[in-house]
Amino acid sequence: MEKIKVQNPIVEMDGDEMARVMWWWIKEKLIFPYLDLDIEYFDLGILNRDATDDRVTVESALATLKYNVAVKCATITPDETRVKEFGLKAMWKSPNGTIRNILNGLCSRSQFTMFHWENPYAVRFVVTLGEVHYEKVLAFWRTCTKQALSPSALGSCSSLNMGTVFREPILCRNIPRIVPGWKKPICIGRHAFGDQYRATDTVIGGPGKLKMVFVPENGDIPVELNVYDFKGPGIALAMYNVDESIRAFAESSMSMAFSKKWPLYLSTKNTILKKYDGRFKDIFQEIYEEKWKQKFEEHLLWYEHRLIDDMVAYAIKSDGGYVWACKNYDGDVQSDLLAQGFGSLGLMTSVLLSSDGKTLEAEAAHGTVTRHYRLYQKGQETSTNSIASIFAWTRGLEHRGKLDMNERLLDFVHKLESACIGTVESGKMTKDLAILVHGPKVSREFYLNTEEFIDAVAQNLISKLQSLAV
Ligand code: NAD
Repeated sequence: MEKIKVQNPIVEMDGDEMARVMWWWIKEKLIFPYLDLDIEYFDLGILNRDATDDRVTVESALATLKYNVAVKCATITPDETRVKEFGLKAMWKSPNGTIRNILNGLCSRSQFTMFHWENPYAVRFVVTLGEVHYEKVLAFWRTCTKQALSPSALGSCSSLNMGTVFREPILCRNIPRIVPGWKKPICIGRHAFGDQYRATDTVIGGPGKLKMVFVPENGDIPVELNVYDFKGPGIALAMYNVDESIRAFAESSMSMAFSKKWPLYLSTKNTILKKYDGRFKDIFQEIYEEKWKQKFEEHLLWYEHRLIDDMVAYAIKSDGGYVWACKNYDGDVQSDLLAQGFGSLGLMTSVLLSSDGKTLEAEAAHGTVTRHYRLYQKGQETSTNSIASIFAWTRGLEHRGKLDMNERLLDFVHKLESACIGTVESGKMTKDLAILVHGPKVSREFYLNTEEFIDAVAQNLISKLQSLAV
């Protein structure tokens, strides 16, 4: 079979443990035999992150800015136990956090001050990127920009803006769901900035007045708000968000809903937080009317704001098929609820989409599945679900296909997705799904091991490619 030509490269971020084992089988059996594809490969396995002082993570994110598409395997976020296990030099930060900061930070003026050209090929960044390794980012740019990045590639970076993480389940008809009414996926977008996650909280020791003060930079009179007269000990919190980030969240949510041709809902509690949540509601409405309303209506789509309590009730009653834009804390809670309600973690995809809809990083929502890897290391059989990892590849490649208008690639990824679902629906599945169908004591004949499942998908894919050639 002639390979499908993919015109532009994609970034591959390799990972750890069982996820890495599956990742390699997926490439060998489902991707490389069919695609003529240029890959910018970065090994984000924990040992290579340690060997490179985590520079490889930064480099992979910068390459994503250049090529606009990345697929990522699950990676270990080290804690003290992992530092000991691998003898690490440091407790490196979560790669996902670093990547998100870089993808988000480039145009966020508060984080990334500016960049400028010294000559057509050398670029010097002046970076104040709070959570990312400041010195290393600079070192990388100083040493690598000449070969790695052309001015035009960087030019396209400047249009990038803050992104949103979207999680979406993969549905198979024969896999029972805890919420049986969910016939179509629900795609949750979580605003991953501010609110509780950047709040200042404190314990109040005894009676006294709590005030909130805003001091304008322009010398105007400070605004002082009385919050509470404490009569005894208690607790307090101040939190914030910024218009720029809310706007980016609105843009990427509308971009995602439109690309899926699904309606969009934003949930807030604006009846209580009239100004704070009201700002989210107003910004979404403004952007919708300015840029999206007409396009949505042409496709019989809509955007609506809902109260979070109404939205949760609606989500349980609905049959799915929409994008749900959640504020930071709501997204944290609701995406776990959704993962449970739809079934296995092995069926949950996750993408980070920039607000201009141009840059996308796709991955499985689950981790490295350490428990199964321990069995694999001992030479014992595993039955790990590779579907979400396969979908990381298909969702990344689908974005590549859309950017490049590559119909053959789009056709291929849709066949690969349908081969995965078809395999499960024909009764061939991994143990996590077999448990959902047959109960926790499922016997061995009802499931395949990790590699057998990928082989079954490969067989199914071959027959789809042969019978329905474009
Ligand atoms: P995990 O998602 O790897 O596994 C939790 C449990 O869920 C497993 O024990 C298994 O029972 C089940 N499970 C998850 N994925 C499955 C699959 N594909 N097939 C079958 N069962 C599956 O989470 P964890 O055990 O808490 O974390 C393991 C490692 O993964 C940690 O080092 C953590 O830092 C890392 N992690 C990485 C990411 C990421 O890269 N995005 C996300 C979460 C956790």
